[in-house]
Amino acid sequence: MKYALVTGGSRGIGRAICLQLAAMQYPILINYRSNHEAAIDTRLQIESKGGKAELLSFDAADPHSADDAIGHWQDTHEGDSIAILVNNAGIRMDSMMVFMQNEQWHKVVDTTLNGFFYVTRRLLKDMLTSRWGRIINIASLSGLKGLPGQTNYSAAKAALIGASKALALEVAARKVTVNVIAPGFIETDMTRDLDEKQLKQMIPAGRFGQPEEVAALAGFLASNEAAYITGEVISVNGGLYT
Ligand code: NAP
Repeated sequence: MKYALVTGGSRGIGRAICLQLAAMQYPILINYRSNHEAAIDTRLQIESKGGKAELLSFDAADPHSADDAIGHWQDTHEGDSIAILVNNAGIRMDSMMVFMQNEQWHKVVDTTLNGFFYVTRRLLKDMLTSRWGRIINIASLSGLKGLPGQTNYSAAKAALIGASKALALEVAARKVTVNVIAPGFIETDMTRDLDEKQLKQMIPAGRFGQPEEVAALAGFLASNEAAYITGEVISVNGGLYT
């Protein structure tokens, strides 16, 4: 069976992507780091709609954790493969750079950028051998235009975009596509502390987006219909920045 792995699939945008891909009949691997209850809830939501899902907990920022979990899954799933990978795990640790601590810089970069590298490298060989694969990386408006207080996050997301474009060229001939989704402000736990009332005045659409609006694009990029789209960065931001 061809599985879809969604890192940070237990909550927010990742959860919506898990539900979208499950509705497209893919069995789902829900990755998360620590919030076990949220991951179980996502699995139950998928199962209640007739889909199939397994939990695959690992810290995307830790090469050993990711390698061990994926290796164990592969050892116990002979004949199955992970054909769709959504690198969605991400964190914010905002601070003006003048006050930013090393930990704030490294944790954010480790999760988004290094996590993409560890997990994608591990799964690429199978995709290249089977000559079909979809890699979808969740960046951000912040990685396109830069946002104050987010030099760490903007750097990680911009680097993720650069890496995705380079990887897209490496693997295109093997029918593996690599694309980036750059969401604007989306209603999730990550944006709960933001002043939505004030921020939405800047958004041409006049509102924050919903996780399902990002997931719909991820579903399309994962489909056969998107076979000729690769190396692209597509914004889902209500017109905030194009
Ligand atoms: P969220 O609601 O905070 O959920 C984050 C998810 O990532 C959770 O499932 C969390 O699992 C997981 N995660 C965090 N660190 C991890 C790690 N080291 N290893 C494995 N899983 C980890 O965030 P969200 O808003 O859905 O954001 C999802 C992605 O979209 C992120 O990459 C974010 O940067 C990006 N994004 C979000 C927005 C927005 O407005 N919300 C805008 C642009 C881009 P646990 O609960 O177990 O920690």
